[in-house]
Amino acid sequence: MTSYAKIPAPLLSVRVGTLTHGQVLTCNPDLPLGDAIALMHRHLRSSIVITQDNKPVGVWTEHDCLTISADDPTAFLRPISDWMSSPVRTMLAHASVEAATFRMRRDKLRHLIIIDDQECLVGIVSQSDLIRVPSAIHPLRERDVSSIVRRNTVSVPGETPISQLQAAMKEGECDSAIVFQPVAKTSPGSTIPPLNATRSSEVTQANEDAGSVISTVGIVTERDIVGYLVHRSASGSAWEIASRPVRRVSDHTSLQDARQIMIDHQIRHLVVTDSHQNVLGILSFNDLLASIEQDYLQHMHDAMEDRDTALARAQKSLHLTRKIIESSPDGIIIVDDQGKIEDVNPSFTRVTGYSAAEAIGKSPNLLQSGRHDRAFYQDMWQSITRAGRWQGEIWNRRKSGEIYPEWLSIIAIRDEQGNVLQYAGIFSDITDRKQTRDDIRRLSHFDELTGFPNRRRFLDVLGRTLNDCRGNNDSVAVLLVDIDNFQRINNTLGHATGDDVLVDFAGRLNRALPADAMLARMGADDFAILLPQKNNSDTLETMAQDLMEVFDHPHFSASGGELFITASMGITLYPRDGSDTTMLLRNAEIAMLRAKNHGRNRFNHYNRSMNTASSETLALETDLRHALERRELYLAYQPQFFANNGALSGFEALIRWRHPKHGELAPDKFIPLAEEIGMIDEIGLWVLRTACTQMVKWRQQGLHNITMAVNASLQQFSNPIEFGDQVSAALNETGLAGDRLEIEITESLFMQDIEDTCRKLQRISDLGVKIALDDFGTGFSSLSYLRHVPFDVLKIDRSFVNDIGKGIGGSELVRTIINMAHNLGKTCIAEGVETLQQEQFLRENGCNFLQGFLRGRPVRAAEIEKTFAPLFAGSAL
Ligand code: C2E
Ligand code: CA
Ligand code: CA
Repeated sequence: MTSYAKIPAPLLSVRVGTLTHGQVLTCNPDLPLGDAIALMHRHLRSSIVITQDNKPVGVWTEHDCLTISADDPTAFLRPISDWMSSPVRTMLAHASVEAATFRMRRDKLRHLIIIDDQECLVGIVSQSDLIRVPSAIHPLRERDVSSIVRRNTVSVPGETPISQLQAAMKEGECDSAIVFQPVAKTSPGSTIPPLNATRSSEVTQANEDAGSVISTVGIVTERDIVGYLVHRSASGSAWEIASRPVRRVSDHTSLQDARQIMIDHQIRHLVVTDSHQNVLGILSFNDLLASIEQDYLQHMHDAMEDRDTALARAQKSLHLTRKIIESSPDGIIIVDDQGKIEDVNPSFTRVTGYSAAEAIGKSPNLLQSGRHDRAFYQDMWQSITRAGRWQGEIWNRRKSGEIYPEWLSIIAIRDEQGNVLQYAGIFSDITDRKQTRDDIRRLSHFDELTGFPNRRRFLDVLGRTLNDCRGNNDSVAVLLVDIDNFQRINNTLGHATGDDVLVDFAGRLNRALPADAMLARMGADDFAILLPQKNNSDTLETMAQDLMEVFDHPHFSASGGELFITASMGITLYPRDGSDTTMLLRNAEIAMLRAKNHGRNRFNHYNRSMNTASSETLALETDLRHALERRELYLAYQPQFFANNGALSGFEALIRWRHPKHGELAPDKFIPLAEEIGMIDEIGLWVLRTACTQMVKWRQQGLHNITMAVNASLQQFSNPIEFGDQVSAALNETGLAGDRLEIEITESLFMQDIEDTCRKLQRISDLGVKIALDDFGTGFSSLSYLRHVPFDVLKIDRSFVNDIGKGIGGSELVRTIINMAHNLGKTCIAEGVETLQQEQFLRENGCNFLQGFLRGRPVRAAEIEKTFAPLFAGSAL
């Protein structure tokens, strides 16, 4: 991922104009040089800007003073315009500080004149102004003075004449020089030691405090030269004009501290000594500036490199996408927002007969068969506009003119603002499939004997009806009717009579049903009825009674015999008695069997206690209802780690039940039960609160920057009290910061109303809470929803991790998932990491976090505190 964040952001946002204080020293071009120098000296300025009509025309700095000889008095009388540097280097006030830094370093400038858009003078910025920018602190903190001290500083004995010193500084390109105290009472007239020969003088007075004062050494800076030129009175030895005493720092002082000493004492140079107090050199503001810039360049370089790798990765996955499209057995067609074909793949050509060249640029109408009316296409487009997709069977025409059926999915591809960029159509030719399908349709969905829907169709319709009900809070009844003693009819009167009875029976039942009900033959002699419940259950009762009366009349079989038959009926009601088809049918059967046990020819409503086969579950259910108050539930915490360095990154809270009889129970033994009996809300809330409380406690014990992941059940999202509100309340109650919490959800959540789900997730995300997609890859097969779902972390399912290195494409799959997560801008965690081989693979392929038995099993909080004891060391106040 790109991380421009590595560039110290504050530095980028400071405008150079804000660093000028408006007190820039200015003068006219005809001011004599001597007066200009005196002006600088009086105002303690390192430069003076020469202006005409408020526009800068030249600049004179203290550095330029190195070229002025005190022995030439005429020089001081000539106008400054003869001496100044011109034209001036300017920069607009709204340029950034780092642009200014770059410019000064690149052009070796010590000052930049700052102007406004009208080119009028705004101020002047010197190197020292830049170094005072607070954001410059960051890179300095990590390094010490020894890293940048200039060791070949000009250093001279105190008796050196100033003109010689000026020349040495200019030649050595030094803005300062070290001057050693003249050795008293040495033989007079002794030769002057050579310049630049650093005398390894011991600075005995110095103590170890950073910034302490020493008096055997002095520093001459350009500013001192300015002062000298103003007065020109002294006899002219270096020691006389040297600033003394000077401040020293040891070479182990951090740059940050050195900077602070300079600012505190308003000095721009420090003498640097080693641990034996030998003078090593001078540290100047200038050096600090160079150092900041170097760090900055490094940051910039890193950021660029990151960006390049990210780009390369994206390109690789683009390439992959391209390959998949090209080799897809399905025809793929891309249409632009103007309705023109933009691209097609080879399968498109194979199915339609049109080459890419023939299709591109045309309208997809090219393929229309004429079999569908306008309303069909209107519906289709309406769905694409509204839901972003359409899917269905459609008749198209090949280039040869042949009409064929295809299964077509159309997806609208939108940009981040939601504007449609393109439409992608994916289709397969279903000519063969359709043919056989039509043939077997009747057989596979309808009962041959009675002509009513069969079991398969019933399950199908019931499933769809339940889906609708979930959305609308409707309820629906499932009735299971079983003819009493049917086997006896078959055995005594023969199968033909048996068949007659079944046909007659079904017909009678059906006539007694309302129009919106559905009757199906489920097996030999049992029938199921699906009965939407528009009103109250009162009608269900009457309905059942009416149905029972159907059997009061005798049957007339084909053979002419009169025959009384009875039936037993079991009734279940969604959602009261079950949440899915299997549960509803199973319970209807239990109720029906109960009716038979009670003497047949009756109906019976399902009621939970009937479920004798599951008396064990019933006991567990009762126990579970008390588990919370009896404090039998607790949380185990499984550590999660950064893949790159193995540091602890977080925990996942996993629930356990210490059952008084069965011992420790894993969540899969009781979470589904809790969901079924509607206790998951209460338990889920307890988990959430307990995990948050634990995290707050650990943070108080010094464990920082760690997240806590909590699993959320599907049902917690279909609450009357919105889950987001529960999360918000838990955070408020416990005082945990939102960004320390992660909610793990599973893909099955998206089987529900996806828009509503996304809205609910967004509500949680808005609290700063991260959202992780658990068990990724095991659920919903469509990936397209991933782009719309607000989640942060993708959790690769254990089963995929388990396949790493198994030679069945498992490694490839995991690598692809990681890339996909990263391309979507998400992070990636792998669960169930059990071997070093898996860990290494995941790390090498950029998976961000790892969780698994290899590095840590789920354990109690106390155990965590023991294992990670060193991390708990610093207790926060
Ligand atoms: P999950 O969310 O996929 O949790 C991870 C499961 O993988 C845990 O099982 C954990 O013990 C196990 N695991 C972790 N590392 C490894 C490994 O290296 N190898 C193997 N073989 N297994 C590993 P656990 O604790 O039995 O939890 C099972 C499931 O129960 C969880 O699956 C989660 O779906 C559910 N669950 C647990 N706690 C809660 C909860 O508080 N609320 C809800 N709604 N569901 C929960
Ligand atoms: Ca989980
Ligand atoms: Ca999982």
